[in-house]
Amino acid sequence: MIIPLALAVAAIAAVSRDTEPAAFTTLLEPFKISGNLFYVGSRDLAAYLVVTPDGNILINANLESSPAQIRHGVEQLGFRWADTKILLNSQAHYDHTAGAAEVMRETHARYMVMDGDVDVITTGGATDFNATLPHFPPAHVDRTLHDNDTVTLGGTTLTAHKTAGHTRGCTSWTMQTHDGGRTFNVVIVGGWSTNPGVALVPSHGKPAAYPAITTDFDRAFATLKALPCDIFLGAHGVYFDLLAKHDRLATVGPSVWIDPGGYAKAVAEHEADYRQELARQQSPTFGS
Ligand SMILES: [Zn+2]
Repeated sequence: MIIPLALAVAAIAAVSRDTEPAAFTTLLEPFKISGNLFYVGSRDLAAYLVVTPDGNILINANLESSPAQIRHGVEQLGFRWADTKILLNSQAHYDHTAGAAEVMRETHARYMVMDGDVDVITTGGATDFNATLPHFPPAHVDRTLHDNDTVTLGGTTLTAHKTAGHTRGCTSWTMQTHDGGRTFNVVIVGGWSTNPGVALVPSHGKPAAYPAITTDFDRAFATLKALPCDIFLGAHGVYFDLLAKHDRLATVGPSVWIDPGGYAKAVAEHEADYRQELARQQSPTFGS
């Protein structure tokens, strides 16, 4: 049966929305992580607010329905939504970027996106090499970032590390926080898994998802392994065990976020998963 493309896309979107984990939309009360860094995401879709005297930086706008929840979190912490001056991104998949157009409409924040992800953002997902994911409202990109570019506002600087492969411009953000007389290196992992069904290598006459995908993953893991990390965060709560750590926050205090060992272990595990998937796709019997 031939299904018209628009219907097929709508069907995929509908299926995906119905099966969206509840943790994507369920509220997690906003809280301070360290220094001027706050958590304003849901129980799994992370969003971060960096507060400065010259306005605030929001990392991730999440689902199309998320901006109202993020705004509520920002205001509950005592900050103004209209002070959101810059919007940043972890990766150009709908669950991290679909709300971007709405956030920009409401706050007039400038959107800054890593080079490989710009196309996908401005086409609402239409140019993504992973064609199985829902599309989203396209958003205007004000500044294209490149690997190791910095974003500075009100005395705080974030560095954009291109850790591509999951998306072509997947971005891990680093910054330093100052709290209780100490300085902490923060890493917000952008994404590190292969997409189900996406080809890492050519096989059976079909090309890889994009030519440099394995080069990108290799670089991404080399970059992540080299980053100094005290406070381990990421685009999804599951990346850094958000819910379990959040449960311990009341008893342990904010030091619960300091987890260099957990970071190193998680990077190593995801690299091993990637190498295993690559070996599986390279085996002579793959797909036959
Ligand atoms: Zn993704």
